[in-house]
Amino acid sequence: MTAASGRLPEAGTDGDSDRRAELTAALGRVRARIARACEAAGRDRSDVTLVAITKTYPVADVVTLAALGVRDIGENRDQEAAPKAAAVAAAGALVRWHFVGRLQRNKCRSVVRYADLVHSVDRPEIVRALAAGVARERPDRPLDVLLQVSIDGDPARGGVPVPGVDRLAGEVADRPELTLRGVMTVAPLGWEPARAFETLADAAAALRVGYPTATVVSAGMSTDLEAAIRYGATHVRVGSALLGTRPPLG
Ligand SMILES: *Cc1c(COP(=O)(O)O)cnc(C)c1O
Repeated sequence: MTAASGRLPEAGTDGDSDRRAELTAALGRVRARIARACEAAGRDRSDVTLVAITKTYPVADVVTLAALGVRDIGENRDQEAAPKAAAVAAAGALVRWHFVGRLQRNKCRSVVRYADLVHSVDRPEIVRALAAGVARERPDRPLDVLLQVSIDGDPARGGVPVPGVDRLAGEVADRPELTLRGVMTVAPLGWEPARAFETLADAAAALRVGYPTATVVSAGMSTDLEAAIRYGATHVRVGSALLGTRPPLG
């Protein structure tokens, strides 16, 4: 995989139909899991959006997923996402881009050029940088953002600890360039996912008291999407269960 070096693998000709069959089957399995989880939770299937996390996978996979009806695509690194978004657009596929990775201040101006929803706002510096980026790059189109919540409060892994959510929400609300849409989390290692998602659900409910438009709950990945849906996830971010196991990051 060449994504780590900033290059994107090119679409081949051999194997394209095999890959399409593989993605079709995986998508069927993931959609069935989401449907079952919604049913078990007494929730409407249309309440949950599948975001395909395509990091390390090629443009061709995004185009195939889009053709299969997956219109929400997520990436976690700007260096990979920016050229990928441009290539997907050039291929004529219309998708919504979700930025789900740790944000660096100097990448914000690039991210706002293609992102439709940024899931990972976790500190005032990033609120300011995104707002400034929007003002320069897309002044007529405010950026939808989620606050990434750290359930265990470990600063190393990103996210604002629960007690800081309200204050950060206020910072976002003060910026006309940004629209607060809700919260996101990654279940901490070593935690029972259900416990983490229940904590996020409480934080999301508390946030909605002051910010009624903050209705998005982005939670759940390949291994724990059922627990997330049980606790109110509106967006599940699924990578490996759809696209295959990624090689370990170098
Ligand atoms: C990679 C990633 C995912 C998808 O993880 P899988 O376990 O492959 O489903 C979801 N959210 C974030 C923030 C990620 O970086």
